[in-house]
Amino acid sequence: MSKTMSINAGSSSLKWKLYDMPQETVLASGIVERIGLADSIFTIDYYNGKRYEVTLAIAEHETAVRLLLEQLIQLSIISEFSEITGVGHRVAAGGESFSDSVVITPAVLEEIQRLAELAPLHNPANAMGIRAFKNILPEITSVAVFDTSFHQTMDKTRYLYSIPMEYYKEHNVRKYGYHGTSHKYVSERAAVLLKKPLEKLKLISCHLGNGASVCAIEGGKSVDTSMGFTPLAGLTMGTRSGDIDVSILPYLMEKESISDINEMIWILNNQSGLKGISSVSSDMRDLHALEDSDEQAALALRIFEDRVKKYIGAYAALMDGVDAIIFTAGIGENDIQTRKNIVDGLSYLNAELSDERNDCRGVERVISSNQSAVQILLIPTDEEVMIARDVERLR
Ligand code: ADP
Repeated sequence: MSKTMSINAGSSSLKWKLYDMPQETVLASGIVERIGLADSIFTIDYYNGKRYEVTLAIAEHETAVRLLLEQLIQLSIISEFSEITGVGHRVAAGGESFSDSVVITPAVLEEIQRLAELAPLHNPANAMGIRAFKNILPEITSVAVFDTSFHQTMDKTRYLYSIPMEYYKEHNVRKYGYHGTSHKYVSERAAVLLKKPLEKLKLISCHLGNGASVCAIEGGKSVDTSMGFTPLAGLTMGTRSGDIDVSILPYLMEKESISDINEMIWILNNQSGLKGISSVSSDMRDLHALEDSDEQAALALRIFEDRVKKYIGAYAALMDGVDAIIFTAGIGENDIQTRKNIVDGLSYLNAELSDERNDCRGVERVISSNQSAVQILLIPTDEEVMIARDVERLR
């Protein structure tokens, strides 16, 4: 028996879950938010519903990790640091260097840092989390689990952009895809739910959260996905534009007197998507509340559904069929109306929802009707448990 931590470190936050492995029992979970500020918020949820919460100044990730581990002892969740035998870290970009999770060595950490050029907001923060744990628990196994590695099975025909080949050869410009851990988890659960071997299934996984992507999965392998070189590509997202014609950039820069391309990219990442179209919110719940009274809010919802439908159609075509479509993440797991609006447009696939089965949130189940030729599945994602499993596998 071993205790394993699953870590998702952001630039000012650290989300974690502590598991008893191999049973995969969650012993505690929590988040440290607003690291670097005078009023960082530190919470631990444990023992079925108990919560420890405190606001204090936490200057950096290493302080957050130390406080967290000490508090786990205080709350009798562990009795000493050495009970924790492994830590798994979510890392955004693994480029072409990592097609699977790896044990973190100094060379691996250096490579994660180098790959910050692909994920400038995420990889440096992920590396900070890794270093914080390494400094405090130097002896235990630490493993990096990449958002990109599941997609390393894509064929050249899918991951190459139609630009001069030397940009790929010299600068590694290609599609990497993200959300890989989530797509992998739900595809494995789909096989269990359908009682069929994963190797025989053609799946389309729709991870619809604030960030959103669709993935075509054939025989358990990612064969295409909607995010690209960065997570900006593909679907309309909470604040990201998804696919656009890049010629818009210089045109808009001139019209809006924007001289710095990074400002344009920032707008596409932070002021676009549902938020940009609706002008009010990036959150689906707000948009549904306004849907009947606000034309732009309704339009944002319709555009969101439209883009998901387009990718489902594209991936059904690429795989020459689809056995099941999976909905997951915040919107996929909870937004009953959006799931219905998307599947209602898929009659050409003979896909049909059961309104009764679809009337639920956050539970794993088949939501298609008995007549549907394509199974529609609702599968709550669990990236954390995948990280803990990889720590066990590589320990
Ligand atoms: P992130 O990418 O930040 O992890 P999540 O997977 O948590 O995002 O998804 C967040 C989104 O889920 C929110 O923007 C919200 O629109 C949507 N969401 C959450 N609960 C509901 C709900 N009950 N109905 C509709 N949408 C919901």
